[in-house]
Amino acid sequence: MLNLPVTEIFSSIQGEGPYVGVRQIFLRLPKCNLTCPYCDTETKIPEQFRVEKVPGTRIFATMENPVPLDKLLELLQTYDFSIHHSLSVTGGEPLLWADELQVLLPFLKEKGLTIYLETNGTLPDQLLQILPMVDLISMDIKLPFDGKTYWDVHEIFLRYSTQKEVFVKLVVNQDTTLKELRHARDLIARVDPSILTILQPVTPSRSIQAPKPKQLLEWQSLLLEKLINVRVIPQTHVFIGQL
Ligand code: SF4
Repeated sequence: MLNLPVTEIFSSIQGEGPYVGVRQIFLRLPKCNLTCPYCDTETKIPEQFRVEKVPGTRIFATMENPVPLDKLLELLQTYDFSIHHSLSVTGGEPLLWADELQVLLPFLKEKGLTIYLETNGTLPDQLLQILPMVDLISMDIKLPFDGKTYWDVHEIFLRYSTQKEVFVKLVVNQDTTLKELRHARDLIARVDPSILTILQPVTPSRSIQAPKPKQLLEWQSLLLEKLINVRVIPQTHVFIGQL
């Protein structure tokens, strides 16, 4: 039986994208293949992970990492699936654990759970491994940072993702450029202009500023020149005090 390192398991309210507000079980997995400057998640593999004892109470127990998949399945099944819209498999970058998810997810699908994958959209081969078990894909398109771009791999990933329900998220800040947004827009339009695209203003930190209101209006107009459905949705869990 395979083992999987976990960061945390809890019940909460989805704070991003078109499913904002739905109740989900969150399975957060460690490690990431990127180092985004605005990352707000601890990505190292912890020696222990935390699991909410009774969903929604914020009372956590700690357990040793990695956890055998049968034990993880047992833990997840202590949650009442009927009040949860879906299981958010998030990270870090959860596709770094595609081998383990390939084994785990079919058992959860069998129990009737909808699988919602949150991914940075850069590991298309790993996506193919688990695609049959995934229902919804929240895919980031990473605008260039630290001199690196991911356009080609994002396009391949997005093409694969269209086999399922997919939406694209672009995290934007005050320094985002029209050139970057045109590039992202054209990439999405080449795959399918009807793909829902979310402009997500970055939650500001000391080094990164949120976009100005005028910028958001200009950028949405720019994207709507070639895309059919473009929405501006900020991270909402931050201001309603959710994890
Ligand atoms: S892809 Fe996500 S988890 Fe990874 S560094 Fe970027 S923001 Fe953090």
